[in-house]
Amino acid sequence: MFNEVIEVINSCATFLITAHVRPDGDALGSELAIYHALRGMGKNAVVYNQDQTPDVYGFLPGSENIIHSMDSVNGFDAVFVLDCSDIKRVGNEADRIGSIDKIISIDHHVSGGTFSEILLVDPSASSTGEIVHRLLNRMGIAITADIATNIYTAILTDTGSFRYSNTGIDTFRVAADLMGKGADCRYIAENIYETRPVIQIRLMGKALDTMEFYEGGRVGSIYVTQEMLRREGALPEHTEGFVDIVRSIQGVEIAVCYYEVSRNRFKISLRSKGTVDVEKIAGKLGGGGHVNASACRVEGSIKAVKGKVLGAIRAVCSTL
Ligand code: 5GP
Ligand code: MN
Repeated sequence: MFNEVIEVINSCATFLITAHVRPDGDALGSELAIYHALRGMGKNAVVYNQDQTPDVYGFLPGSENIIHSMDSVNGFDAVFVLDCSDIKRVGNEADRIGSIDKIISIDHHVSGGTFSEILLVDPSASSTGEIVHRLLNRMGIAITADIATNIYTAILTDTGSFRYSNTGIDTFRVAADLMGKGADCRYIAENIYETRPVIQIRLMGKALDTMEFYEGGRVGSIYVTQEMLRREGALPEHTEGFVDIVRSIQGVEIAVCYYEVSRNRFKISLRSKGTVDVEKIAGKLGGGGHVNASACRVEGSIKAVKGKVLGAIRAVCSTL
């Protein structure tokens, strides 16, 4: 698998690099690590994301060069599609990006990345960034401080700061290697976790006011509507992490955050503790992700959407 990817990298000159809509730290860190590595090899590389980079990730080296619109995909020999279980996850440009001659998929989702034959997929990896680190090592590419900062961020954010069960022994080995190569763990943590705009905390307060419990407190949920965002002057990216607060409550095994993307369209983030498999729940509703962190999109009134999600939870977790 590595060999096919390395062969494409060596034989091509101009690369597009992309990841999923609403990019997170793993998507951005993995994209930018590959961007710096390819440029270091003297290749041409462009990073495209449909959605803007959330402010918290503005410190990532190279993030200022990410583009959000493309006239044409002609001229790209190959594209890296990162952290996407399905190519549709790149958004509106999925079809055009899918028409590029060579597609390299690097992913760590449960049922992920298999839309291309040139792929590095390992659901046991903490993050796509950890797989990118393996690839660069295989290729003998020197990890610069810029690359190290990006991959460290990918790992830190996708493991919830090394707390989730996707954190393996290798995750710490890679993190240690990256610190040795110039990733400043304090600087990175401060940028990601200690630069929240006060608007976000106000929105969090409003979201926590909507908290509800089901199944004797084993399921907890909150919601965020467009109206709440508008009233607080907040952005969609400010809802990042809200669902984790619900999971942090004693007794909660499944945490749900309903986010109203637009009228009667909701994105639902699911988190679990222990062995509850929220990937199965999201899967029933057309989404996916990981055992303890998944998401899906459902249309309908908030009442109808809540009913569907609770139905899927009860169907998957017959013991709840
Ligand atoms: P989050 O709730 O943080 O947005 O997403 C949790 C996990 O679910 C992430 O691993 C993410 O990649 C995955 N995910 C988010 N949205 C979707 C979706 O619409 N479809 C699928 N298949 N996975 C998603
Ligand atoms: Mn990821």
